[in-house]
Amino acid sequence: MRNPYHYQKSKHTRTRKPPAFSSYKPFKSELQIEFAGQCVYCRALDSYKGSESFGVDHYRPQKKFPRLATEYSNLFYCCNRCNSQKRDFWPNARDWREERFIPNPCDYVMFDHLRYARGEVKAHSVAGAFTEEKLDLNDPDCVVFRESLITMLAATNSQIETAKNIQQEAQAALDAATTDETRNIAREIYNEASKNLSTLQAAITQVIG
Ligand SMILES: [Zn+2]
Repeated sequence: MRNPYHYQKSKHTRTRKPPAFSSYKPFKSELQIEFAGQCVYCRALDSYKGSESFGVDHYRPQKKFPRLATEYSNLFYCCNRCNSQKRDFWPNARDWREERFIPNPCDYVMFDHLRYARGEVKAHSVAGAFTEEKLDLNDPDCVVFRESLITMLAATNSQIETAKNIQQEAQAALDAATTDETRNIAREIYNEASKNLSTLQAAITQVIG
């Protein structure tokens, strides 16, 4: 199963075309769809954190670029944690020269800078290392949380495989049944496995959307 925490291997092209709102707040729901409910920086999922713990990031900070405060291309979907770590940061000329900047998924290939190894973020560039430190992406609590989510998803996935196997075997038994009694037993097992399967799949959807 794919790690829900992963950075994109290509630049993101925006698909939403929201109207020109006069405040940045109404953009949040557009950004949530645009960036599939994940923080663009740490890849946290709002499906388990809740969208109230997410907000609108001004890539070029409002304080320094007030005209871009409601410019859609300057806005990103971001968890509150990353947003508060990033604050009003914007690289100065020296920072740019030394590649001390935070990449975003529209202008940069995030995978060139940051990659996930299970629950931990690994930097693959100077900007990646800078971002990891600036946004505190490997905060121990966050790493532990991600690891447990990955483990839980893997366990649920293996239960799904088991339920599918039971379902298949029950179907074969149903096809081969020669008496009402064996047919009924096979049908009951089949239905039970189907019920488990949908519960497990719903659990996965709830976590990773
Ligand atoms: Zn984040």
